[in-house]
Amino acid sequence: DMTALGVEEPTIEPKATEHIKEMVETIEQLIERDMAYVVDGDVYFSVEKFQEYGKLSKRTIEEMLSGARVDIDKRKKHPADFALWKKAKEGEPSWPSPWGDGRPGWHIECSTMSMKYLGMGFDIHGGGQDLIFPHHENEIAQAEGATGQKPFVKYWLHNGFLNVEEEKMAKSVGNVILINALEEQYKDHIADLRNDLRMLFISTHYHSPLNFSQKKLKEAAAANERIGNTLDKLRAFDTDDVDTTKIDENSNLIKLITKTKVDFEDAMEDDFNTPEALASIFNLVSNMNTTLDESPEPDEEEKKIFKAAYMTLKELVEILGFSYKGLKISVIDEVTVSDEQQTVIEKLTGNKTATRKELLDLREKARKEKDFETGDKIRGIFASEGLIIEDTPHGPKLKKKH
Ligand SMILES: [Zn+2]
Repeated sequence: DMTALGVEEPTIEPKATEHIKEMVETIEQLIERDMAYVVDGDVYFSVEKFQEYGKLSKRTIEEMLSGARVDIDKRKKHPADFALWKKAKEGEPSWPSPWGDGRPGWHIECSTMSMKYLGMGFDIHGGGQDLIFPHHENEIAQAEGATGQKPFVKYWLHNGFLNVEEEKMAKSVGNVILINALEEQYKDHIADLRNDLRMLFISTHYHSPLNFSQKKLKEAAAANERIGNTLDKLRAFDTDDVDTTKIDENSNLIKLITKTKVDFEDAMEDDFNTPEALASIFNLVSNMNTTLDESPEPDEEEKKIFKAAYMTLKELVEILGFSYKGLKISVIDEVTVSDEQQTVIEKLTGNKTATRKELLDLREKARKEKDFETGDKIRGIFASEGLIIEDTPHGPKLKKKH
């Protein structure tokens, strides 16, 4: 699922049960530094010993207690103290430790494993807003308490909740159901799902609630189509040999291209403000569309601008993880087809494989020769890829079918 969406796989996916030894070591460090105490086979973190407890959620211990369900446990030194190790219970999995058989507390695995693989003071820790307290607050207390160093994490990224058609979707199971349903919905043009979902997600700032709806998905698809079309149009001119090093820096459009990049970077550096970053991209897109309409036959100077705009636009959308398959006919994309269509292609070209360009050329030839049967067959091959052929004054173009 994640690969289809263009999400990179993690380098390491550590399992808590394979790190019990390290967790025990972290707890031992905390006891040694007098940040934790043992009571009857349980080990508790002493929140009063960690001066900065509450710094992430910006709450005092008293405020935290009033909002949380606190089990009144007389054995704890302070009601907000939390378990690092729990004594084994009948029928539950347990591991040996210096304090007897038991299992680690809920928070210790994250501190231990992230310190092991990322080191103390790593850059970014993500998570849902619901995890700020107590989970992430406790992760900080454990890691900084055990090492005496700070910070545990440089930046915390807490994302808002996902609402689907107005309903809150909190369980990861629900999100998986959503992706499956979308894959079914996009089965004729699955490559678009990556872009459309990504567009929908980053149109909202990551820490705001995210609203998923079919209406929003349609809007995202339209936005992607705009970018894809502009990229195609910018590349439609033969600019491969155009030298953009000798470009007129004072041209308004070149200034706009440079500004787009600056605005984009400023937005991303401002706590990943992706809606702002997208706004800078769309500003360039609409300006280039106007210019493209006004210059159907660009001169050398304009070609330089188109090339520079293309390169900048491509660079920025790729930073955001979009992938626009060039539909421009000169792009040599192998056509993926069924066995039946393979036979058709082989009959048409004498070859097992064909590029889109070859097929389009064949169709042009068929059209001129009024060979409608061949034309229809080629149209069918593209249709199975979710593409339609559009005849324009500049020759045939492929367009996505929606
Ligand atoms: Zn965690």
